[in-house]
Amino acid sequence: MARSSPLRLLILGGTTEASDLARAVAGDARFAPLLSLAGVTRRPLPQPVPLRIGGFGGAAGLAEFLRAEGIGALVDATHPFAAAMTRQALAAAAETGTPLLRLERPPWRPVPGDDWREHATPEALAAALGPAPRRVFLTVGRKDLAAFRAAPWHDYLIRSVDPPPAEALPPRARVIVDTGPFAPEAELALLREARIEVLVAKNSGGTAVAAKLAAARALGLPVHLLARPAAPPGLGAVAEAGAALDWLARRHAGTERGA
Ligand code: NAP
Repeated sequence: MARSSPLRLLILGGTTEASDLARAVAGDARFAPLLSLAGVTRRPLPQPVPLRIGGFGGAAGLAEFLRAEGIGALVDATHPFAAAMTRQALAAAAETGTPLLRLERPPWRPVPGDDWREHATPEALAAALGPAPRRVFLTVGRKDLAAFRAAPWHDYLIRSVDPPPAEALPPRARVIVDTGPFAPEAELALLREARIEVLVAKNSGGTAVAAKLAAARALGLPVHLLARPAAPPGLGAVAEAGAALDWLARRHAGTERGA
């Protein structure tokens, strides 16, 4: 039987996909959405739905929040590397019986001719840069920078959304604070100007920060990627906000059982 009241929906965000979904449900009478951000970014983008900011206090805190707020559907649209939040979402959803969907963009894949390598940890990646000094464009994000202090002989051009703490930086580092999306021509110019020899990034996927890969390809540069953490088993996932909206519409119509 169709539900008449709006479905109270919690989106765990901090990504383009979460913002896409927020736009898709904003103003739709079937849904009463709430978008949650961790609060790690200094200036979060304006959002078209109500926002809450800050952690929940682990899986137990999130479970409590789901109950207290009467959440009827949970969409985990956090970043592919936000593994702790994804685990906690799964645990809290299981504990409370809240239907859960993972919204996650597909990883980047190499095309023929690309010299790409993936590494499981930032430490392995830093070691893979080798003993000879190289000029590295490093875009792994603040949390994973410290591993590169173990390879202090490289010159690093570091790009980060927020300024990294000084203690996380390798010694030979120049920092650019900037947020995507980045244009292909600008990325090419940046890599050329800095005489970059190797690109280091997370395999984040998506389009907003993919231009650096095209620039590396155009210059024939090797690319070292941090591999995504493995998805926890039992998590239903879609790749686009449109598919998440379809899932939510079915949940609103009450035609599906909990995921
Ligand atoms: P994480 O390691 O998985 O989570 C760390 C803690 O941050 C979680 O335990 C949770 O705190 C809190 N948290 C994470 N996402 C949250 C959300 N959407 N709403 C409320 N609390 C949240 O995550 P992370 O890698 O630090 O990422 C933090 C945020 O930045 C996420 O929203 C993610 O989507 C975004 N982001 C991450 C990356 C990346 O490379 N990791 C890149 C771009 C954007 P409690 O345990 O207290 O609930």
